[in-house]
Amino acid sequence: MTLKQATIAVGSGLNSDQQYGCVVPPINLSSTYNFEDFNQPRAHDYSRRGNPSRDIVQRALADLEGGAGAVMTSSGMSAIHLVCTVFLKPGDLLLAPHDCYGGSYRLFDSLSKRGAYRVKFVDQGDPQALAAALEEKPKLVLIETPSNPLLRVVDIQAICDASHAAGALTVVDNTFLSPALQQPLKLGADLVVHSCTKYLNGHSDVVAGTVISKTAEHATELAWWANNIGVTGAAFDSYLLLRGLRTLTVRVKQQQENALAIVAYLQQQPLVKKLYHPSLPENQGHEIARRQQYGFGAMISFEFDGDEAHLRHFLSELKLFTLAESLGGVESLISHTATMTHAGMAPEARKAAGISDSLLRVSVGLEDSEDLIADLEHAFQAAATR
Ligand SMILES: *Cc1c(COP(=O)(O)O)cnc(C)c1O
Repeated sequence: MTLKQATIAVGSGLNSDQQYGCVVPPINLSSTYNFEDFNQPRAHDYSRRGNPSRDIVQRALADLEGGAGAVMTSSGMSAIHLVCTVFLKPGDLLLAPHDCYGGSYRLFDSLSKRGAYRVKFVDQGDPQALAAALEEKPKLVLIETPSNPLLRVVDIQAICDASHAAGALTVVDNTFLSPALQQPLKLGADLVVHSCTKYLNGHSDVVAGTVISKTAEHATELAWWANNIGVTGAAFDSYLLLRGLRTLTVRVKQQQENALAIVAYLQQQPLVKKLYHPSLPENQGHEIARRQQYGFGAMISFEFDGDEAHLRHFLSELKLFTLAESLGGVESLISHTATMTHAGMAPEARKAAGISDSLLRVSVGLEDSEDLIADLEHAFQAAATR
């Protein structure tokens, strides 16, 4: 299980500038391009359809996932919406995980109620439930692993094989690991989506998404539709995302090392009632994670043993962990699932999904792991002696 040494030099546009020989490719902010002559367009005519800065980052994204092509979009949600727009017609069925990203759940739920397509949410870790759902002949199967916030892992290869046998296309939301830790196209997926807002950009200063496809035909179709509905990403965001990608592997490597140190610390912390991380043998799908991932990732969840007052005190004492949603940035973040990321879910639904009111989710950053652990220890002690 070794971290994928993702090399993006080939596709990242370094040293590609013809005009000035810039080592780092410039940002092309122009929204429009002149025609060389009457009826003679250049490679680019208008930046919604194509932009040189976006071209470069799309090539890098495709390289990283081992795809034929990629479309960069304005957000992770527009990437997911693009896939559904291209591959689902009214009446078609989408099979999504019962514990998928909240924004995805809301999108599928609201659009299916308006007749855009049908959706069924299923526990894909349950082979019988999955087989029964595939009997209904879905057109598209969305896979998301590890899941949010309990970091359950499902078998991408097995779900892709079963979905293909049922005639469905498969798309994997790879946001929680990044291609440095998991490459779904190699495991049989047809498409990969990311919220580039998270690990791929990695610096919490861009909202963007991408769809990467295994085949060139799908890449062409996705690019046509992305221009048609106008969800392509901006030039400045393309530049920042490309800069983030250059350090993806080293960031993820350090974040993952920090996460393992924090898991070891939390395991012996008495105020931690339950701990979730794919590295733990008791975690759902641990054996699958060992097989299909290049590492266990830097997202951790745990149940805090105490009432709400203790929990608030614990959170207020943290100095290095910021109370915020999102993930994958250089800084460590902590979020309270019930009041933040999953506040839109009914309390009974959260309970049924195994999400307790004392669950905290941590996105481990690049700080020194000893500092992070000392910060946690201080806050736990303050909460315990309160
Ligand atoms: C954040 C996230 C999204 C949505 O991406 P945005 O960039 O916020 O639109 C989709 N899937 C997962 C797993 C995410 O974490």
